[in-house]
Amino acid sequence: MQLTDDAVGHPVLAVLEGTPCQFCADGRLTRACYKGNAAVVCDDCETPTAQVWKGPGVACI
Ligand SMILES: [Zn+2]
Repeated sequence: MQLTDDAVGHPVLAVLEGTPCQFCADGRLTRACYKGNAAVVCDDCETPTAQVWKGPGVACI
């Protein structure tokens, strides 16, 4: 098993990154830290769409 030092390895975050925000017209989702979890948040309204707990292969940078 390989560990990565960012959130790239999580399939849910990888799928969601770059998709349009569900909560506003213009935003796109980008990986970020949210309350210490790895997450994808809107780059416009900053609403977190998904969060995953830190763990093997997933870290908050
Ligand atoms: Zn948004």
